Amino acid sequence: MTARKSPSCALCVRGDCHPPIKAGETPQKDKLAAFCPMKNVPEVIEKAVAEYAKPEVKEFARQASKQEFEGYEQLPGGLRKPKNPRILELIQFARKCGYKKLGLAFCVGLRNEARTLTEILENHGFEVVSVCCKVGAIAKESIGIKPEEKIGGAENWESMCNPIAQAEILNSEKVDLAVLLGLCVGHDTLFIRYCQRPVTVIAVKDRVTGHNPLAPLYTSSTYYAYLMGKGKKKLPPPF
Ligand code: SF4
Repeated sequence: MTARKSPSCALCVRGDCHPPIKAGETPQKDKLAAFCPMKNVPEVIEKAVAEYAKPEVKEFARQASKQEFEGYEQLPGGLRKPKNPRILELIQFARKCGYKKLGLAFCVGLRNEARTLTEILENHGFEVVSVCCKVGAIAKESIGIKPEEKIGGAENWESMCNPIAQAEILNSEKVDLAVLLGLCVGHDTLFIRYCQRPVTVIAVKDRVTGHNPLAPLYTSSTYYAYLMGKGKKKLPPPF
């Protein structure tokens, strides 16, 4: 018996999960790639789909899908034009869900952006509570950081990022939706793990690209070619 292949949708050149067929027709599943999750773990997909039968999950998914639809303007000739920046989508989606109180968990390095975003959200009628990553003023040494590992120098105080406190404060405030703004890799992981409110992301941290982590992918054959590493593995274009 051959071992089951791990899901590898990123390697797919078929796209059988979104076939170009008419509504009412049935997607064909007889030529799925060996690594296709629809081939290898249909029971997991079936279990996941059953979740959407829960009324609150179904409604949330419906609103998210409507938000996706409204992100495009339909043009003549079947063309589509994207129309809303993510900040507007956040506002529209929060309204759709009936959310009133939004919680902003932001990085101290994006405090200007946090203030502007708060202004925008308040101007659109939301109550905003916000928590900076440095909340608690706990020394980095308390999690085992050595003096020489502090960004501002061994001799200076440096507060640790405290995403667990950010999450717990937004939990205790019972925000309708927690919004992540620029948390670091890893700190965001902790926040998401501890936050018990619905979470979305307005921006992720990328110090080098103005918080646009995809920029190196778009230039990965030129300026960021070094990111490809030594293997120089070249995948075929996707579906
Ligand atoms: S058909 Fe869809 S689900 Fe299957 S491997 Fe390709 S991308 Fe993944």
